Amino acid sequence: MALVVQKFGGTSVADAVKIKAAAAKAIARHAAGDKVVVVVSAMGHQTDILVDLAKQITDRPSAREMDMLLSTGEQVSVALFAMAIQAAGHKAVSLTGAQIGIRTDSTHTKARIRSISTDHVNSLLDSGAIVIAAGFQGIDQNGNITTLGRGGSDTTAVALAAVLGADVCEIYTDVDGVYTTDPRVLPEARRLPSISYDEMLELASLGAGVMHSRSIEFAKKFGVKVLVRSSFKDVPGTLILAADEATARAASGVALAKDEARITLENVPDQPGSSHALFSELAASGIAVDMIVQNVGQGGRADISFTVPEDDLAEALERAEAVAKQIGAEGVSHDHNVAKVSVVGVGMARAEGVAGRMFTALAHEKINVHMITTSEIKISALVDRKDGPAAVKAVHKAFGLDVAAAEPAHAAAGGPLTKSSPLEVVRRLEGMEDLAIEDCLLDSSQALVTFTDLPDTPGVAAQVFEELGKAGLNVDMIVQSHPRNGLAEISFTVPAASRDAATAAAKKIAAARGAKVADVPHVAKLSITGVGIRSHAGVADRLFKPLADEGINIDLVSTSEVRLNVIVAADHGQKSLAVLRKAFGV
Ligand code: ADP
Ligand code: ASP
Ligand code: MG
Repeated sequence: MALVVQKFGGTSVADAVKIKAAAAKAIARHAAGDKVVVVVSAMGHQTDILVDLAKQITDRPSAREMDMLLSTGEQVSVALFAMAIQAAGHKAVSLTGAQIGIRTDSTHTKARIRSISTDHVNSLLDSGAIVIAAGFQGIDQNGNITTLGRGGSDTTAVALAAVLGADVCEIYTDVDGVYTTDPRVLPEARRLPSISYDEMLELASLGAGVMHSRSIEFAKKFGVKVLVRSSFKDVPGTLILAADEATARAASGVALAKDEARITLENVPDQPGSSHALFSELAASGIAVDMIVQNVGQGGRADISFTVPEDDLAEALERAEAVAKQIGAEGVSHDHNVAKVSVVGVGMARAEGVAGRMFTALAHEKINVHMITTSEIKISALVDRKDGPAAVKAVHKAFGLDVAAAEPAHAAAGGPLTKSSPLEVVRRLEGMEDLAIEDCLLDSSQALVTFTDLPDTPGVAAQVFEELGKAGLNVDMIVQSHPRNGLAEISFTVPAASRDAATAAAKKIAAARGAKVADVPHVAKLSITGVGIRSHAGVADRLFKPLADEGINIDLVSTSEVRLNVIVAADHGQKSLAVLRKAFGV
């Protein structure tokens, strides 16, 4: 007898007919002898309708009352779902988040799960009932109803699967699996038979709306097997699982975050502590920042740029302006008309010419790239919002994602988390959804090369990384800062042994464009690894503060959901490692 969690999204329960059809799936599984827990979203666009109603009352509804309101959507659908099962002659009990005992923190509208009690659900399952759980909601320690953030029913489902020890968590939705990019945006997208936790986590967090990224944090931390499949068609779907990185693809998918905003603090005095002041202020309001970029700057001053979801722009700007005054920055600029296109692949670090391929594809479409950041498993580029869909199309094609690949690329590998410390990390967590830090690593084998004064025209990054690729250079971290006065800055790291070749190639490119090149023969790269690093606001800050306190300056930063990297001077490597190990308790 297996235990299965089945989750049905809004479209899958949009009307009575669809609810009955979904209920039939749960009944069939139960009749086959399995224990079944169903997690249901609000019907159709009900959550949007409720959000809109609130807006008709006030511009600034309190977050607590929003949760009170939005949670009703799921309460309606679970009751109807249970009735549908009962009407077919089977036992079913519907439960709200509070009735199950899904305890969350008190961050209304984006609460994180702290614990889930299993007693009630298990006794109902033992009694032969199908349990219908309301998605997206919980209760805080003071008895207030909370919600987990839009799309959060996925997270309820995977979290329940984790605590109940379910054999599989099936996500029934209106697409028949995870595609190489949103098939509604790009018809040539292809369904992936399987995808690794890390890739799905990264894609979801970078804009692929098919899964709530926090659900994949649970899946990875607790080793939950997730199957995404269609509510309406009986086709295989996509399995999300721990994957053997050795057989991984260079690119698995492309994501578009179409509503991004960029904020730049201009001419910040370049001293340890500026970044900390900024990012601690943002973290305090729970804003998750991405694409953190600092340029080298002139006269002891530098610009710090970062992106936030456009919804967070007003608050982020207010806070950034306050900090700018405090730390002596000369001004704050912003742009809300931007989108972030990212390519994700676990095998990227070992593949050649990945950056060149991406930027050449964008240059071909005459799409200007405003900012670039990378990590081991993704490259993100900030572009004008109007260029977003064309950018996705170009990058998707450049990586051959429109052509069927030989599958399976993902051989299933061992348990959750890493090879080193499977559930050790999770055991130390106070709340189930707390940030899980695994390790802090030091790599002293890289050199840093920086272009300054590069004219900001479409194709600059393409030319740089094409040339470096031709020279056979394996580039690791890449950062392109937000251009100022028509001039951009690109920094990248290469293995120290390739430094001379990289610098020579860079000088050649720079000469042709009136740019300058500087290099640092040896730098130290520090990496914090874990799960949910970017989406937990404040991780970057936990890294900036202890380094700033030691007077250690950070040259480059890059983030992903599974890793946060910084480059510091080589002679600060060991000290930084010790400081960070202490700060992160590893
Ligand atoms: P549900 O209501 O079932 O939770 P969602 O609307 O949240 O469904 O998610 C499904 C949608 O995600 C699809 O209709 C599709 O447009 C979108 N989507 C975005 N990126 C992807 C992707 N890479 N693969 C599949 N679907 C995607
Ligand atoms: N009903 C909620 C929403 O629309 C949660 C979900 O569907 O996952 O965001
Ligand atoms: Mg969804």
